Amino acid sequence: MTIEKSPISRRAALTSGGAAVLATAAATTSAAAQNSPYADKDTVGYIAEPYVEQCSTCLHWNNSACRVVDDADNPNGWCQAHTAAAAA
Ligand code: SF4
Repeated sequence: MTIEKSPISRRAALTSGGAAVLATAAATTSAAAQNSPYADKDTVGYIAEPYVEQCSTCLHWNNSACRVVDDADNPNGWCQAHTAAAAA
């Protein structure tokens, strides 16, 4: 049995409220996506509009894009890996 290295970092998975989602994403990515450090939008249920929360309030948001979901650059988007950022 071969265990392949996940494209999602252990830190990202452990610090995320969506750790289970990211683990699933890592296990189900295509061969092309396995070369990317990011999760696929479809796998994490990304939508380009707020759903209770939004990217701009997420721990994984980095001013202009998401650190863990590929091509997620809309501050009003949302996905199942959303993790509330600590209050300033
Ligand atoms: S909610 Fe937005 S910023 Fe947070 S993990 Fe999902 S795509 Fe990334």
